[in-house]
Amino acid sequence: MTLVARHSALSDIGLRRKTNEDTFVVAPPLFAVCDGMGGAQAGEVASRLAAEALVAGVASGSTLRAAAEQANAAVFAHADDDEAYAGMGTTLTAALLEEDTGHFVHIGDSRAYLLRDGELTQVSDDHSLVAEMVRDGRLTEEEAAAHPHRSVLSRALGTDESADLDEFAVDLRSGDVLLLCSDGLSGPVTDRAVAEALGLEDPDEAVATLIAEARRHGGPDNITAVVLRFEEGPAAGEAGAAPRDEAAEGPAEDGRDSDSRPAVDADESGAAAAPAQSSTESVGDAGKTGARRLGCLAGLLALLVVAGLVGVVVLSSVFYVSVDEDRLTLYSGVPVDVGPVPLHVVYRSSSRTYTSLTEAQREFVDERDLRSKDAALDLARDLEMWQ
Ligand code: CA
Repeated sequence: MTLVARHSALSDIGLRRKTNEDTFVVAPPLFAVCDGMGGAQAGEVASRLAAEALVAGVASGSTLRAAAEQANAAVFAHADDDEAYAGMGTTLTAALLEEDTGHFVHIGDSRAYLLRDGELTQVSDDHSLVAEMVRDGRLTEEEAAAHPHRSVLSRALGTDESADLDEFAVDLRSGDVLLLCSDGLSGPVTDRAVAEALGLEDPDEAVATLIAEARRHGGPDNITAVVLRFEEGPAAGEAGAAPRDEAAEGPAEDGRDSDSRPAVDADESGAAAAPAQSSTESVGDAGKTGARRLGCLAGLLALLVVAGLVGVVVLSSVFYVSVDEDRLTLYSGVPVDVGPVPLHVVYRSSSRTYTSLTEAQREFVDERDLRSKDAALDLARDLEMWQ
């Protein structure tokens, strides 16, 4: 028996980020998700470079692992060459289909899931600090899910000369559905909702539903999904037959970069969300979405009135230090979101990483205590954020 995969993939900037640092690969029989990290535009560069090198490596006959190692070298060399890209890296979760086997390489906290007979299994391990702490028994799953630094990676592609890659294989059956996704999807969307979406017959519909679901939960990060649905094929050599135009184009990146705009802004959840949302609206429950959006807008309006009276003064006079991806960041405001609206803006971001801090220094960051501007700048200096 030969399996064929119907597939679909989509990347969405989400509702909070100004850029999309995710990249996906649809180059049958190769599929992958990369989620870049690093200051300025470095995350976008890292994920795109890794995807391109991976595709080129596999196309030139390298094994999947060798191609991933070439991707690591490409990102690392670029980061080494240019100060602006120092320390950048990316996750990589890739599947190469060979007859009825899916070969995987994986590093970082993007995920691979398998839906079989209605049951969802995560087949990749997360390489994040909180996931390591859960494995060590120092955190529960629930604590990890709410941890302020759950996006800090313990392993990544491109940050070291060699990458500590996981490699594994999954025997695939007719009826299996595979999902590769970034943490912008696996974070906000429950396993149950993922399983339901993957149960949809049409991979296009599955992908659109997953993205819509992540946006309904606030879309805090870039959202990327690659879905493969396996069925018995008529003949050999057709695995990965491509029903979509974007197939075989290699690395693809979301083109919907939004304009740069302040974090607390009516456009953030209203107008600016509209173009991408419209593509997903027909998939979900449009009535419910409409009601929720109305609710959000009413809440937002109320918030803006209050903010206009007193909030702005308060929010602009308190500061705290936290982490964006792995970078230490000084925020103005409070570490709270009201619905889709964050009550903070980035005051200044640092190239210093959370990972590079000592245990004692991390405690100061974990606390996210509110401080006066001077006190916050003192802490930033103690943490050597501007060196
Ligand atoms: Ca992410």
